[in-house]
Amino acid sequence: MSDINVVGKALEILKARPLCDRCLGRFFAGLGRGWSNLERGAALKKVIVMGYHERIREGDEGALREFGEVAGSIGVHASGLYRLLFGGELEVRGCSLCGGKLDGFIEEAVVRGFKLLSLYGVSRFVVGVRVPRGLLELEESIALQHGLRYWESIRGEVRREVGKAIESRFGLKVDFEDPEAMLVVSYPDFSMEVVIASLFIRGRYWKVGRMISQAYWPTVGGARYYSIEQALYSILEVLGGESIVLHASGREDVDARMLGSGRPVIVEVKAPRVRRPDLGLLERVVRESSGGLVIVKLEGLARRKDVKAYKEEVAVRSKIYRALVAVDGGVSLEDLRLLELLNGVTVLQRTPRRVLRRRRDIIRSRKLYQVKCRPIAGPLIECLIKTSGGLYVKELINGDDGRTKPSFTEVLGRRAECLELDVLHVEEHPALSTPTQ
Ligand SMILES: [Zn+2]
Repeated sequence: MSDINVVGKALEILKARPLCDRCLGRFFAGLGRGWSNLERGAALKKVIVMGYHERIREGDEGALREFGEVAGSIGVHASGLYRLLFGGELEVRGCSLCGGKLDGFIEEAVVRGFKLLSLYGVSRFVVGVRVPRGLLELEESIALQHGLRYWESIRGEVRREVGKAIESRFGLKVDFEDPEAMLVVSYPDFSMEVVIASLFIRGRYWKVGRMISQAYWPTVGGARYYSIEQALYSILEVLGGESIVLHASGREDVDARMLGSGRPVIVEVKAPRVRRPDLGLLERVVRESSGGLVIVKLEGLARRKDVKAYKEEVAVRSKIYRALVAVDGGVSLEDLRLLELLNGVTVLQRTPRRVLRRRRDIIRSRKLYQVKCRPIAGPLIECLIKTSGGLYVKELINGDDGRTKPSFTEVLGRRAECLELDVLHVEEHPALSTPTQ
């Protein structure tokens, strides 16, 4: 019968080594529901003691002798009967796996773990547990030796019990899907750390000035240009944290402004101290620290899995640019009509020479939806250009010595050069406008 089997195995183990209730119960963790291992172990021990008592009352001398030997390994549950039978106090032997310290360890880990998590404002977490390899191997060998199949390791038990207790006593939530932090507990030495997950904030930015790069651009003498990332670093003063990473749908040139619709981004804050930020405050801090050159609008929180969609170039369906263009020898109305012939063409563009250092030399094909130009003065025209994402507009204008075809230079038969460029509109892929929270 299976119940006898379970009790028999428990006794077999206790004859070989003393175990506390929790450590004994853990070897049968997968049996029964709604109990702690502490309760499992205590129940098994009580049944074992009752079994001995029955045999002893029926005059079994062998059972009396055996009980005298194993009682110390059973511990307090055997002390009453021991006193009755032998008259003296039972000498309880310490647990051979945890030294009787596991209960206290879990209790203290719960309190200290909660304090640490609340320091970082965490409400969704998971627990990780480090256990000395030797202890895990010992558990495994005991399970193997006694043919046990429903045991769990001390690591699993500490992980679950600490998580459960922090949940029920302090209202935090164990969340395997989207944890804000991992509480790493080391058994048995109590060292503890919190690994904080990044905070992701979705929104968009505007670059009102020129000569601002998107990413921080370090050189020997400091940053080459002021950058959007630098402006965003100011939010660390509010949120704490180690660093900022900007995940954007494409980028504009350093000398191009980003106006109009703004550019969709996810701002990743690494190891933040605050998880429910006041977004309006962050927007103000960025605006002030950049002297108004960088403006962000923060729309809400995002998840790590959203980053991919934001970073993919396909996320951007089309863009509208404003370009100030100088044409050698000036422009006639006929020239402007010629440029409008570019509406709807497919542009073949070999990677521009100015970015060859960073990008692979390939030929890409991009759609040019619409070109609309008006004369300004002398050789200057202003153009609105709508293209698919990923087209290099400066080269569309100057032709990059024939690497971009067709181009303004080619169509006009005279050199055209982009003097100023602004991004006016970034049309987003629908995936970006369906936030997860
Ligand atoms: Zn133990």
